[in-house]
Amino acid sequence: MNASAAVAAAVVPAAGRGERLGPGAPKALRELGGVPLLVHAVRALARSRAVGLVVVAAPADGVAEVVALLDSHGLDGKDIRVVAGGATRQESVRLGLAAIPEDVEIVLVHDAARPLVPVEVVDAVAAAVRAGAVAVVPAVPLADTVKRVESNPGGPEPVLDTPDRATLRAVQTPQGFDRATLAEVHAKALAEEAAGGTGVPPVTDDAGLVERFGGRVVVVPGHEEAFKVTRPLDLVLAEAVLARRRAADAY
Ligand code: C5P
Repeated sequence: MNASAAVAAAVVPAAGRGERLGPGAPKALRELGGVPLLVHAVRALARSRAVGLVVVAAPADGVAEVVALLDSHGLDGKDIRVVAGGATRQESVRLGLAAIPEDVEIVLVHDAARPLVPVEVVDAVAAAVRAGAVAVVPAVPLADTVKRVESNPGGPEPVLDTPDRATLRAVQTPQGFDRATLAEVHAKALAEEAAGGTGVPPVTDDAGLVERFGGRVVVVPGHEEAFKVTRPLDLVLAEAVLARRRAADAY
């Protein structure tokens, strides 16, 4: 691996509407401490010395707005590019990946909706890929017991079983990949879709695609502050975490 190949590029899918957060602007543009979630997320990645380039997949009708937003928050000194995202998270990642120069061999994928990921997590994921893993996910143990149920929206749902909690992890981002592996599984998934799908449920993360096509994925420790802002209560928690950080920085 040459020097530039050892530096990772990050793709930030930020084209979702975020409907579970309630009505309003696209989720990535919602504010946390007066700054859009997306700006927090890009800053968190750009802070890592392991990351040399950040590619944001913006809502297709919001590319110019996102470019202006990143510039207005002082991120124009970093190598940050904005492309139009797609109709699904998977498509947004694929479009972001296509904008990364050929010689970059390590790619991180990070949700715009995880604005407070500590830089140590970004560094650890990139380091694990550099050390030879093809797919790396940060994750944390679960606080809740989890049950598998037969889906019956709105009604009582029969419990099928209770997986052993000690073997379960809640998965976060950034997820890190050998670039060729990530590009290959995205291409295979696209070909599968074009052929009419396989009937298997859609994967909700990139590591899931690697697993589907037989690749080995490893977990490294994540961080409780890397949680995803999905519902209104998550924004309340994120504001509290940010206030705590700002208070700590003031000392
Ligand atoms: O909806 P969910 O919270 O799983 O979205 C995860 C990430 O994927 C978010 O950052 C969202 O903006 C992004 N996304 C995207 N393109 C879509 C849908 C979601 O970039 N079409």
